[in-house]
Amino acid sequence: MSTETPAANAQQVLQEAARRRTFAVISHPDAGKSTLTEALALHAHAIQSAGAVHGKGGRKGVTSDWMELERDRGISVTSAALQFGHRDHVMNLVDTPGHADFSEDTYRVLSAVDCAIMLVDAAKGLEEQTRKLFSVCRHRGVPVITFINKWDRRGREALELLDDIQNILEITPVPQVWPVGAAGNLRGLVEAANTEQMLRYTRVPGGTHAAEEELLDFGRAAAEEGETWETALEELELALDSGPGWDPQAFREGKITPVFFGSALTNIGVRLLLDAVVDLAPSPGARELVNGGAREVTDEFSGVVFKIQANMDPAHRDRIAFIRVCSGVFERGMNVTRAASGRSLATKYAHTVFGAERTVADICYPGDVVGLINATALRVGDTLYVGKKAEFPPLPAFAPEHFAVARPKDISRSKQFRKGISQLDEEGVVQVLVSDRRGDQAPVLAAVGPMQFDVVLHRMEHEFSSPIALDHLPYSLARVTDAEGAATLDRSRLVTGEALTRRSDGALLALFADKWQLNSFVRGNPDVYLETLIATA
Ligand code: GDP
Repeated sequence: MSTETPAANAQQVLQEAARRRTFAVISHPDAGKSTLTEALALHAHAIQSAGAVHGKGGRKGVTSDWMELERDRGISVTSAALQFGHRDHVMNLVDTPGHADFSEDTYRVLSAVDCAIMLVDAAKGLEEQTRKLFSVCRHRGVPVITFINKWDRRGREALELLDDIQNILEITPVPQVWPVGAAGNLRGLVEAANTEQMLRYTRVPGGTHAAEEELLDFGRAAAEEGETWETALEELELALDSGPGWDPQAFREGKITPVFFGSALTNIGVRLLLDAVVDLAPSPGARELVNGGAREVTDEFSGVVFKIQANMDPAHRDRIAFIRVCSGVFERGMNVTRAASGRSLATKYAHTVFGAERTVADICYPGDVVGLINATALRVGDTLYVGKKAEFPPLPAFAPEHFAVARPKDISRSKQFRKGISQLDEEGVVQVLVSDRRGDQAPVLAAVGPMQFDVVLHRMEHEFSSPIALDHLPYSLARVTDAEGAATLDRSRLVTGEALTRRSDGALLALFADKWQLNSFVRGNPDVYLETLIATA
């Protein structure tokens, strides 16, 4: 049986895939991700009212405003992805949970995108979560576009921020636009590709609408903006001269990042950013398979589960598996196979979910996101396919930073305890580490974000009928080591036996209290094998 869709269809799939841009915004809390998300989506459909969402007194109004916008303008909001149109392209903006719900899932959703926008606060520069998310992008080969936000407010110098990107992230920033005016005195933008003109912005009093854009030719820019204009051109030249220049290949390989400046709040620079996603970001392409070879976008349907959202309310035990379409056409109702089990799965309950409502996803193309309701067999990282088998490589385990020992509250339920813990491990809800000293009745749960523990507590009690207690441990870093390394660690006074653990895939993990402890061990034992896990800062 051929794995290819019929020729006419294949042509259509290619066209539809070429029109799609599937991306995420990576940032530290408060850098402006929500503001930018709204500005991007609204820009695509309704430039004039882009500021309105924020104009009504901040975040509280956002949800209901969104609902209205969905109805009025056909923007679909799902809890996992936002889809909107721009310049005849279909933009799929995949959400990266942050703030309190920062967890391993935040890293995993990056497996679903072809590009990321790294959002940086002009005053704060590269913050911790941004760096971690960036390292996941680098590891997964996801190209990164940089947007330096809040330029309407006082902040750091543009050249200094670029230096940080170069020195801290070790990726070369290549500015595509440059701010005219220092942070806090934003007059406009100049594009690197055309320094003969300036885009000037005038803020509308009250700030409830996007700043007005005006195009000035060189003469007017020089006459009306004087030194500010000259400084911008000088700085841009300096930044470009010291770098390798724009090179699409180097961007796709993660060697350079195009840089944009602006203000999400006043909608400055947002259109240029959106254009960049269309012009620079890759469209969905072939994906490598676990046993070699690749699944072409024109092959039959395949997709990867990148997020499971469970409703914790037992009365509504809803569970939605979000799938990114990787190849072919997804049609609601089709039977797909789950690669891990070889079992077939009906998809009549396929939806894109928005707000409280659900719309039905009838046909989706590569790059799109589909939600499958109550597909309880699915796990994050699963591949689904039609026709010839496809299985994408499993997601890596990311560096945990929070550790706690789990104990059953009722020891007569130790069977349920073991079953629950091992299922949650398998599902990737939390990583489960066992140390020889503690044994498997007291496993160490390891998480990227503390919210993962809340999910474990809840599910152990309600789903596996084995309530647990957690004792938090004073570790914050994990390194993979080998048997020899473990023996050296064990002999050292620094690390106790409890800190030597084994993950369910067999990897040995040594836990350290902090960087100081780790560094001091490394200084004394420079030859010990200690491998950094992805996203360890
Ligand atoms: P998130 O935590 O990354 O989603 O950040 P939000 O979008 O909630 O923004 C955090 C705060 O920064 C809010 O008070 C926003 O109004 C503000 N903010 C976001 N973008 C800008 C901007 O471009 N300029 C200014 N001055 N404030 C901004």
